[in-house]
Amino acid sequence: MKLRRKLFASKDPYDCTKPQLFLDACKENIDYLITHCDDYKKIADGLGVHTAEDIACPEDIPVIPTMLMKQHDFRAGRYLVMATSSGTSGKKSHVRFEFGALMAALKMSIRVTRYHGIMTAKPCRYIVMGYKPHRSNKTAVAKTAYLTTFLAPAISRKFILKHTPDGYKPDFESIVNALRKYEKGKAPVRFMGFPSYTFFLFRILEERGLSFKLPKGSKVMLGGGWKQFYQEAADKETFYKLAKKTLGIEEENIVEFFGAVEHPILYTDCAYHHFHVPVYSKIVIRDPDTLEPLGNGQTGLVNLISPLCRATPILSVMTDDLGILHNGEECPCGVRSPYLEIVGRVAPDDIKTCAAGAADILQGVKV
Ligand SMILES: [Zn+2]
Repeated sequence: MKLRRKLFASKDPYDCTKPQLFLDACKENIDYLITHCDDYKKIADGLGVHTAEDIACPEDIPVIPTMLMKQHDFRAGRYLVMATSSGTSGKKSHVRFEFGALMAALKMSIRVTRYHGIMTAKPCRYIVMGYKPHRSNKTAVAKTAYLTTFLAPAISRKFILKHTPDGYKPDFESIVNALRKYEKGKAPVRFMGFPSYTFFLFRILEERGLSFKLPKGSKVMLGGGWKQFYQEAADKETFYKLAKKTLGIEEENIVEFFGAVEHPILYTDCAYHHFHVPVYSKIVIRDPDTLEPLGNGQTGLVNLISPLCRATPILSVMTDDLGILHNGEECPCGVRSPYLEIVGRVAPDDIKTCAAGAADILQGVKV
């Protein structure tokens, strides 16, 4: 996996000048998968792909739908770590990472978080708006949120979702108490986790007329998506206004991450809140009916491609998200690679109604 190593060692995470290295690293991955994963070989054969030489561009790589990964456990050799998706329907994807994949992911995380000024040496206090680690929780969301608390040295870590005999429950009260204490200190506070819980916290603070002035350098980091609370998704402007009003955190200190267990690439929004595609991946938008690739600016199914991992065939996965790829030049931030806008989902089975979702979140909260 020499080419993967080279790709993930790229100095500039948004370097658009390496399409050939990206394609070659994908070919290296496909050769491995065809010889180490019978299920993948069958799918590839069916699509007329027998060796890497049958691939002329990333669009030609056999695509595995994430829906299929939730029903079938693909394996391709030895692995060290396994992560699962957090599907509410009970069906989960299993993604296994071998040593080389973990190293590539580590290099990527360091490059990307340094680029966005998230990795610093200044110690801070973390408030994780997500799961407290527990041996019963193998979701990638829980693991990545916890890993994020190592991007700057942690003085303390607080988690909103506590493991109880009845499952995970949010404890907003303990977060409000912590904010009272942290406001008086010098250490920056970093929120990390689900946008939905963070947004609900803002609303609770606003309803109670509480506002804090958190120490300089405090940040709100968002990840894990809006999940089943899609319809509660606040428009971003409202979210930024509330962050400023309730915590004293400016828009420039709000960072959002995007990724999926089946595509563990770290997408981080730029100063204009766009998710530019890093050098480690390629996104193809496809026509929902014909699956033909569409041009930038058109809405279609989101196909995510990356040679990060080989222990699970996630080289090219088709999500059930609908998205648009925009030309990088349309964003004034200076990054030239295209950026992805997610506009919705094809099969909203998991999405609860607004009222049910809100009731779930607020369960156990004393306002
Ligand atoms: Zn940008």
